[in-house]
Amino acid sequence: ASLDTLDIIVLAVLLLGTIAYFTKGTYWAVQKDPYASSMANGSAGKSGKSRNILERMEESGKNCVIFYGSQTGTAEDYASRLAKEGSSRFGLKTMTADLEEYDYENLDQFPEDKIAFFVLATYGEGEPTDNAVEFYEFIKGDDVSFSEKSAEESPLSNLKYVAFGLGNNTYEHYNSMVREVNKTLTKLGAQRIGDAGEGDDGAGTMEEDFLAWKEPMWTALSEAMNLEEREAVYEPVYEVTEREDLDASQETVYLGEPNKNHLEGHSKGPYNAHNPYIAPIAESHELFNDKTRNCLHMEIDIAGSNLSYTTGDHIAVWPNNAGREVDRLLDVVDLSKKRDTVISVKGLDATAKVPFPTPTTYDTVMRYQLEICAPVSRQFVSTLAQFAPNDEVKEKMNKLGGDKDLFAEEVAKKNFNIAQLLAHVSNGQKWEKIPFSLFIEGLNKIQPRYYSISSSSLVQKDKVSITAIVESVEVPGAPHVVKGVTTNYLLSLMLKQHGEENPDPHGLNYAITGPRNKYDGVHVPVHIRHSNFKLPSDPSKPIIMVGPGTGVAPFRGFVQERAQQAKSGENVGKTILFFGCRNRTEDFLYKDEWEKWTSDLNGQFELVTAFSREQEKKVYVQNKLRERAEEINKLLEQKAYFYVCGDAANMAREVNDILAQIISEQRGVDKKKGEDIVKSMRASNQYQEDVW
Ligand code: FAD
Repeated sequence: ASLDTLDIIVLAVLLLGTIAYFTKGTYWAVQKDPYASSMANGSAGKSGKSRNILERMEESGKNCVIFYGSQTGTAEDYASRLAKEGSSRFGLKTMTADLEEYDYENLDQFPEDKIAFFVLATYGEGEPTDNAVEFYEFIKGDDVSFSEKSAEESPLSNLKYVAFGLGNNTYEHYNSMVREVNKTLTKLGAQRIGDAGEGDDGAGTMEEDFLAWKEPMWTALSEAMNLEEREAVYEPVYEVTEREDLDASQETVYLGEPNKNHLEGHSKGPYNAHNPYIAPIAESHELFNDKTRNCLHMEIDIAGSNLSYTTGDHIAVWPNNAGREVDRLLDVVDLSKKRDTVISVKGLDATAKVPFPTPTTYDTVMRYQLEICAPVSRQFVSTLAQFAPNDEVKEKMNKLGGDKDLFAEEVAKKNFNIAQLLAHVSNGQKWEKIPFSLFIEGLNKIQPRYYSISSSSLVQKDKVSITAIVESVEVPGAPHVVKGVTTNYLLSLMLKQHGEENPDPHGLNYAITGPRNKYDGVHVPVHIRHSNFKLPSDPSKPIIMVGPGTGVAPFRGFVQERAQQAKSGENVGKTILFFGCRNRTEDFLYKDEWEKWTSDLNGQFELVTAFSREQEKKVYVQNKLRERAEEINKLLEQKAYFYVCGDAANMAREVNDILAQIISEQRGVDKKKGEDIVKSMRASNQYQEDVW
């Protein structure tokens, strides 16, 4: 008998599936950062290392692994802090591990006398972070199979674990990663030590939640593993060596270049989260008509880079720290004179990964590699105390580090960054005793900032638009104005592009031409992150968008796209945008463009505005939604897609609740049913959020 075409297709699919199963998808795996090895530099890089965690622990003499699932770096930072603390206070042999770098089939053979920590952030709509996807899919798989034991025999009964989650209660699926992983590990027979902790970014208590969770956890762990606490001594994780043999002008020294190819001057793709593209800014302008605030529109040119985007994606901008803050920090730790001294940084142990390429300089590390402007953590203050210039300062630091309320009052509320704090507490005395390694361990690696792309890839596939409000936070009682790192960098770039004499209105002194002037001519390092925030594939479907302030960014792209589709004769459905700002004269974003697109879309587009400050009683997009309840409900019944973008803390949650109320009132169902309908809309992607 001969096979017909369908059989052949079925067989081919089965065969591919089988190969995928046995190769664990290696043939399909996206190539990991090809330049990662340039980061390795004597420490454990990504390449060439075993994916077998048990082997890795065994050969490096570890009895404690701290896995992290991290998107923005906080979970990774907490993992490092736990590793250090476990080692210095309890003598554990610790290592941190990026979840994406290991396989998990052999977790059933995890030795009983060792311990695994899981520090897991929840991302977006209850999803794992990018680096935790594979792990999560593996353990949650219907037929999860370990190398020796089967699912029925409680395969993980040897595994002792500790769990902490990082989440945000303003999202529907609060801390769902740690909850799900915890549930699954328990189900598979593993034994949790201590409580599964949960930190809440939404309430702004992440750090305190973490600190409050970890003490009882350490107690429980000491009991379970028979550990004895000792006086914590600082053990550096990295060795920092000053290189008399090198000088900063030599071409092997990294001065902010993200990897080897960039250093050697022939940066090449694929461009991704490990390898930014140095993109020209094709055009930029100010969107506000308000002397006290800035909002930037930028067109980033990605032609020829092989980068691509689709409408609704995000672009990541790689920032560097303002020169003013770099100077402040180098000064207070008495490294100003040595700022250009070349240093090599090496992990003192095979599992310690140096988070940036070396050899480099003190200046470069502070400017391009570490998040030096961010709020300071209380635990870091305690750690720094021992390196205070004198006993009085040491005592002050210990007090601040040990007292939650005092810390909130004296540090957090004052918006100090690390340099400001050190200078404040020591009254300007230099802190020359702090080992440089401690900064690499105690400060986060600087993170790219994401922006919702505000253009349509159908209309301008090679130009990515950004709509960014420039962060400038002034708090009564705080001695400093917080200037957002990335947005003020972008502001300087915009001013430079416009030939302004002073592209530095706030004296921030950014190195806008980049390392060795490689970013001159107005360039910015970027990469693209694909998102699930997408228009319906059928343009005739109606859409409702809610995007106040810069939340309007992706909707500019959506409307631009639909206007183009209408112009080329496609049938485009009703398109409603709820936009809010203070008033129509100062911060009404893209006012003229909406008018143009209204005419392109022949009455199918409607902009509903809420100007909060134009009348006595404040009016927000939420109020406008209520006014249009009947129409919104009708459109939803016609399967309209509903989108929300912008402020996660208040607006997005309120819109969710109002929509549930609208549905309940308009359809005559109870409140709970209204909420369930919204939930199921989310589950089926009819309701999509892009919030931050
Ligand atoms: P940062 O330096 O990161 O500071 C941010 C905030 O942190 C400050 O405003 C302040 O509140 C606080 N802070 C910083 N330092 C301190 C300190 N020492 N003490 C106390 N508080 C401090 N933004 C847009 O404008 N447009 C967009 O389209 C957009 N889209 C986004 C999409 C996604 C998916 C995400 C995750 C975020 C998006 N954002 C967008 C936000 C953007 O990524 C940045 O967070 C924002 O621009 C601020 O970056 P920054 O580096 O200028 O500020």
